[in-house]
Amino acid sequence: MRGRGWQEVTSESAQPNEWDIHWCDREWLKENYDHTYFQEHVRICHFRNHYELTRKNLMVKNLRRMKKLVERENGKMSGQAFEFYPTTFELPSEYHIFVEEFKRFLGHIWIMKPVAKSQGKGIFLFKKLKDITDWKKGEYSANPDPSIPTPETYVVQRYIHNPYLINGRKFDIRVYVLVTSYNPLKAWLYRSGFARFSNQRYSLESIDDSYVHLTNVAIQKTAPDYDPEKGSKWSLQQLRRYLTARHGREAVDKTFSEMDNIFIKCLQSVQKVIINDKHCFEMYGFDILLDENLKPWLIEINASPSLTASSGEDYMLKYGLLTDVLNVIDLEGRLSGKEKRVGGFDLIWDDGQVMEDDSLWDAVCISSETPNSFLGCYNDDREEQLAKLYKSLALTKAKQSAAS
Ligand code: ADP
Repeated sequence: MRGRGWQEVTSESAQPNEWDIHWCDREWLKENYDHTYFQEHVRICHFRNHYELTRKNLMVKNLRRMKKLVERENGKMSGQAFEFYPTTFELPSEYHIFVEEFKRFLGHIWIMKPVAKSQGKGIFLFKKLKDITDWKKGEYSANPDPSIPTPETYVVQRYIHNPYLINGRKFDIRVYVLVTSYNPLKAWLYRSGFARFSNQRYSLESIDDSYVHLTNVAIQKTAPDYDPEKGSKWSLQQLRRYLTARHGREAVDKTFSEMDNIFIKCLQSVQKVIINDKHCFEMYGFDILLDENLKPWLIEINASPSLTASSGEDYMLKYGLLTDVLNVIDLEGRLSGKEKRVGGFDLIWDDGQVMEDDSLWDAVCISSETPNSFLGCYNDDREEQLAKLYKSLALTKAKQSAAS
């Protein structure tokens, strides 16, 4: 931000609203949003009720509701487009439906996750109902004592037991999606991201071992032999190349287009619920797991994806990502508003799916059939693309002012 010539002000030194952007945390939002008047130009980095998508239980509730709605309108088959998250129940409220499901699929592994925690905290796997009834007794035993806080809400979710493995290790994928408006929905997908590998070889024998089953960096970095510069992260470009070499372009393109479907369906599921405010934007971190059939599964969506760098390469990724968030937000007013690519971000949804530019098709007035989505594709030219874009925008402005 300083590199852009911006100045930092603190809440003490700034006059009310004498600022342009606040990279606020969620606590600030909760305490201040409802009674702050934001001037026209001001931007903040969360929507008021972002948790509708980023709390594990609410995300599932919104997706289920949207699926039902779509099925009612377009028939049962259309609901299949929503089958990208593992079966999930909220506990304790859906305990009894969960038990029925558990009994239908005896032998399956389940994963318990506290809804309001992150970084793998409080997560455990289980196979027997007894493991959770013991837990249930401890956590949820009817407690008439009001001085004891009510127990935490959890989700229980089918464990994806057959993840895609590379060198015998499990990984999940972090993808960044920027929403600049919910009404109309406008979403940008960042080309780069990474796959986070677990430190230990995958096995179903030790379901208690977090180093094997949880791919969070916060967990993995506590492993005794963790080395951040070696092998714990791959760029999405590296992953896409690896998968393409093994499975061919068609299969991998299908996987990546299924991921696009996940991003869009999730955003649409809260489109009517999120309080749309032109001052707000949100950069989500989507966590996706591939299974052995290359099917992508949505694990969760983060409202404040970690911006801490774990290596030199990670620093470059996050520096470029944040720079391009600011470029899309465009407080400097350099863009025309018609851009489909700004640095590493591609516009994937603008009140409808955005298609790739294709001058040949444009020339004959037929739109291209290829979506404007390039996850895991070449991004080394992002600075060059920005320089060209700004140059051509400045030229157009200069021509316009000369003409007037
Ligand atoms: P947190 O918010 O604590 O990071 P996540 O839902 O992201 O919780 O889960 C943490 C990790 O656990 C994930 O990165 C993934 O490796 C693993 N995990 C979570 N849910 C599943 C699942 N349903 N199947 C397989 N692995 C999972």
